[in-house]
Amino acid sequence: MAVYNPKSLKAEEFINNEEILATLEYAEKNKNNAELIDEILNKARPVKTAGGAACKGLTHREAAVLLACEIPEKIDEMYKLAEEIKQVFYGNRIVMFAPLYLSNYCVNGCLYCPYHLKNKHIARKKLTQEEVAREVIALQDMGHKRLAIEAGEDPVNNPIEYILDCIKTIYSINHKNGAIRRVNVNIAATTVENYRKLKDAGIGTYILFQETYHKESYLKLHPTGPKHDYDYHTEAMDRAMQGGIDDVGLGVLFGLELYKYEFVGLLMHAEHLEAVHGVGPHTISVPRVKRADDIDPDVFDNGISDEMFAKIVACIRIAVPYTGMIISTRESQAVREKVLGLGISQISGASRTSVGGYTEEERPHDSEQFDVSDQRTLDEVVRWLMELGCIPSFCTACYREGRTGDRFMSLCKSGQILNCCHPNALMTLTEYLVDYASAETKKTGFELIENELKKIPGEKVRAIAAKNIEDIKASNRRDFRF
Ligand code: SAM
Repeated sequence: MAVYNPKSLKAEEFINNEEILATLEYAEKNKNNAELIDEILNKARPVKTAGGAACKGLTHREAAVLLACEIPEKIDEMYKLAEEIKQVFYGNRIVMFAPLYLSNYCVNGCLYCPYHLKNKHIARKKLTQEEVAREVIALQDMGHKRLAIEAGEDPVNNPIEYILDCIKTIYSINHKNGAIRRVNVNIAATTVENYRKLKDAGIGTYILFQETYHKESYLKLHPTGPKHDYDYHTEAMDRAMQGGIDDVGLGVLFGLELYKYEFVGLLMHAEHLEAVHGVGPHTISVPRVKRADDIDPDVFDNGISDEMFAKIVACIRIAVPYTGMIISTRESQAVREKVLGLGISQISGASRTSVGGYTEEERPHDSEQFDVSDQRTLDEVVRWLMELGCIPSFCTACYREGRTGDRFMSLCKSGQILNCCHPNALMTLTEYLVDYASAETKKTGFELIENELKKIPGEKVRAIAAKNIEDIKASNRRDFRF
């Protein structure tokens, strides 16, 4: 039997089934232990430091107790603490992005995904470089600056060279004042050598969802294709980091397995990355299984309620306070609104999940991965966020200024990231408003920016930010950043 060891590079040792089961038993036993829950909540509270604030985070065992907790007052406290942590480290900024589907050719047999090899009625498409350019122009014309590229796994149709060509094309397009300044990549687990190529191509975060940490279920859910190899998939982030990518994004597809098991697995994975590479995941995504062509989500009987979904988001926020958290348009406006304050730091807007979808007038369904729940335009999403008191941010400065991996984390841990992020958010929001927003969104936005400028603590930074904002409004000068 494998022994739990967070420092091991073997999947069965750092995501250790026995440790997860023992953790779940411990959490179940202590779910009404108010004294212990208080202790855990107190450990997780932010404390003031000379540079700003700091949080200790929680172990997977401690976090599992919070997730299991059934005491209503303690759950309320949890939500308040999650909101506080979000404010301290991420403020009211929400980073915007869009997915770009490059190809839905796939050789895997994933039971939950319409791109599975046996699905013969979905239209198979792969963008040419001209089509990639057209999609990018459409995305730039909406105002997007950050993309997550998506592709099925198919060594013949979508080899790494194809992905690299697409990245090159994406970065090369400057339409009007538009530019894609950060390309995150969500492609199948690959080799150290290929991760190095992605790093050299200038990617932001490498994202790979574990789908499920439960090995037995994983093997059944991925019956055929290279993705069947649980260890290769689970150890991918270590290879990515060995290849020089230091911002990696984790996630599980909620609904496939028991959520408590996934939650513990996810946190153990984060602990493992910290233990081995000295830096935890840059982001955690929380997708839920959706209806799709040839896919009925009801056949997976581990679906979670919106209430439980919110509790999971809050518990992740408390356990890993410095990790960004992403929510996609798989979720409706109402659910997104519910979880925004609890710790989400990035959301997608106006997403199309089909290959070539952004150049079509109507959302096409023939090649899509799942239907989106939040179908609003980017302008509507941006205005909605501002009306909720958030600052939609199009900032991509950190990785372009070399603030990745442990350098990002140490800035974030000292609370100093606020000195860069807040002015950067306001400057990139100004770009968006000037170049792309409707009159109504502009009005809301400029009022918000005026108020938010006053909150920048340093006088010098505030003056520079104010001057840059005026420059953006008055000219075509773009891409100011701290
Ligand atoms: N092919 C890549 C891989 O194997 O990791 C990733 C690209 S795939 C387009 C991105 C993610 O979509 C998958 O990791 C999976 O979690 C998610 N996904 C697949 N089917 C889904 C469904 N029916 N509902 C919601 N999300 C789904």
